[in-house]
Amino acid sequence: MRLNRVLWGILFLSSVVTNVPCAEPEKAMDRRETGKSARILFQDDFEAGTGEKPESWKSDAWIQDGRTVFSREEKGGRDGGRCLKIETKERENDARWVRSVELAPHAAYILRGRIRTEAVKWAQEGKIGANICVMGIGGCQSDQAERSGSYDWTAHRVDFATGDSGHVEIACRLGFTYSAVTGSAWFDDIAVEENPDVVRREGKHVYLNLYREDLEGIREANFKRWVKHLDATYEAIADLTGGRPWNGGKIGIYSCQWYPGGWAVAGNPILWMRQFVRERMDVAEREDDWVSGILHEMSHDFDEESWNFNGEFFANLKYYYALETLNGRVNGYQGKGYLKYWKSDADGSYEKAWRNPDPAKRKAHHDGLQYKWLEIRERVGWEPFKKTFRYFRSAPADRIPRDAWGKLELFHAKLTEYSGLDAWSVFTEEDRALLRSEYH
Ligand SMILES: [Zn+2]
Repeated sequence: MRLNRVLWGILFLSSVVTNVPCAEPEKAMDRRETGKSARILFQDDFEAGTGEKPESWKSDAWIQDGRTVFSREEKGGRDGGRCLKIETKERENDARWVRSVELAPHAAYILRGRIRTEAVKWAQEGKIGANICVMGIGGCQSDQAERSGSYDWTAHRVDFATGDSGHVEIACRLGFTYSAVTGSAWFDDIAVEENPDVVRREGKHVYLNLYREDLEGIREANFKRWVKHLDATYEAIADLTGGRPWNGGKIGIYSCQWYPGGWAVAGNPILWMRQFVRERMDVAEREDDWVSGILHEMSHDFDEESWNFNGEFFANLKYYYALETLNGRVNGYQGKGYLKYWKSDADGSYEKAWRNPDPAKRKAHHDGLQYKWLEIRERVGWEPFKKTFRYFRSAPADRIPRDAWGKLELFHAKLTEYSGLDAWSVFTEEDRALLRSEYH
């Protein structure tokens, strides 16, 4: 399952990337921070305290019907001492021992622990058995989590990063979201340490926690150049929409070793699947590429519910605005030249999806819609778009439709009002019917 998801990510990526070979990198990035050893910030071997409950830990579960048993065992730990146990026999569950840990904000860590299991089995759709994780972060499960059956004490590890708050909830867990399981698991030697392999870089509006190794192909000066592009993109999108997410705080970018749910996933921090970082940094070095996948996720962060009838559409539109106005480069396209991608190059482009030679295959894909909106922009400029975003940001909630079609119609009505050009006029009769079938 994991492989399929990763494969999908790769396929998706290859469909949007056009490589243009350029000069070779001359000098690898400065590795001055190597050789640091990890500092342990939290440790628990469950020996402290009396009674059946471990100090500071609480039990929690998806199904709380008493059939999952949580305990602290007096013997049976890795060194013969105490350990935690979760046992789910009759009915599949996602069950965990949880505790909070206070760490520094905006920093990268590793959670470690030892687990042994007995007869772990998941329901058909599940793929995650016993694991350690940080609660509330999608996909964040330890490296041995996909093992089932029985195994002896095994080291589990998962990397993670904190956002604006350093408060995290760590868990010793049997099962996961969408992965209910039966069986038994024992947990011991839980620890949180600094991640010594991650380097932190600071921009004006962004900060990055990336693996040092992945930056070997990019020179420091060119990495800084890329961070400047991210800052400029941030400012451009703020200028387009009139807003700044996270109360104007910095947006983090963290490259995680596990699958976060996509090539990268919006939020704060933005999670970027580690296996894709090095290759993109190499392209940033060679071609001054701005890395469309990260611009896209950053752009997601600026969206507001009020106008958002299609998140992928608006993520692309807003970062396109930045590329056009700043003449940025992605995937071999430069500045306004990127328009061609939405017009005819992408599988969902206007020509391929909306004007497919086979009428049965025609679809109002959001890539083609982007091209249509850029036709409006071609005739009236960006100003009416800026006004429309600001209208949506400031209008009272009862004036904003809840459904996608209502939002789309209102966006067009406002564009029309602010530009004097009927926004619907760039669409043919058939385009409108396609849009209606997509969003109505
Ligand atoms: Zn997206």
